[in-house]
Amino acid sequence: MARTIFMNDRLVPEEEARVSVFDHGLLYGDGVFEGLRSYSGHVFRLDAHLDRLWDSARAICLEIPLTKEAMAQAVIDTLAANSLTDGYIRLIVTRGGGTLGLDPNRCSNPQVIIIADTISLYPREFYEQGLRIVTAATQRIQSAALSPRIKSLNYLNNIMAKLEGLQASCVEALMLNHKGEVAECTGDNIFVVRSGRLLTPPPDAGILEGITRNAVMELAETDGIDCREATLTRHDLYTADECFLTGTAAEVIPVVEIDGRTIGHGNPGPITRRLTDAFHALVRA
Ligand code: PMP
Repeated sequence: MARTIFMNDRLVPEEEARVSVFDHGLLYGDGVFEGLRSYSGHVFRLDAHLDRLWDSARAICLEIPLTKEAMAQAVIDTLAANSLTDGYIRLIVTRGGGTLGLDPNRCSNPQVIIIADTISLYPREFYEQGLRIVTAATQRIQSAALSPRIKSLNYLNNIMAKLEGLQASCVEALMLNHKGEVAECTGDNIFVVRSGRLLTPPPDAGILEGITRNAVMELAETDGIDCREATLTRHDLYTADECFLTGTAAEVIPVVEIDGRTIGHGNPGPITRRLTDAFHALVRA
């Protein structure tokens, strides 16, 4: 089915949604994006996603040519135009058309694009049985080179690690930072459970501070599960009682094997299940 896309200031049919070959989003990955979910017609944590988009844009000196209110309305209009109540929304702001040089100051017309579609989650059996993942040799890019907190259109660092995962027949891969500490997976944050306590790497481990991650941390607190940010090594993962990943697309997904080591008893653990249920209740609330 042909989709309706929001482009800059209006809704257009998919085939009319086009960007210039001179757009630096295409030429250099110069731009920012967000991935959001809508559940029963309600966009989950829309404000948090818009704040993160604006922060990403600020960090790269990109001025978004819409107000947050107008962007929020455009998200809702795009969902409606595609008759979607439960869907995935991709928000993109490119640097706009420029010259073949890098200079972003010579670009004009940043493009605001909103795509709403259905989401293909991981197959159901992965949620029931848990994922196998491997550690990628590709390190998460250092903050001093490019902050992983910027959700930029340049995802090659993650794609290189994703390729390694796929080559090992895994749909996700673990990424370490330059110090060898656990950062995150290629498109998901990571948590472990140890002695009833939930642990996840802090933002300065070189992660994107996930909105699902933050929601799960809040749910843990409400549920009386001790949750803290901690520097983690692969040893902490291998010896954990439970492990799971979080992300807008993935939601909460158990991990049962890392680098050939069985985690806990090799199936989704009780705290993972509790938080998964709590997350489903939250998004549908
Ligand atoms: N880390 C990375 C690298 C991501 O791209 C994402 C989003 N897919 C996440 C973590 C999870 O963030 P969120 O929960 O906000 O989707």
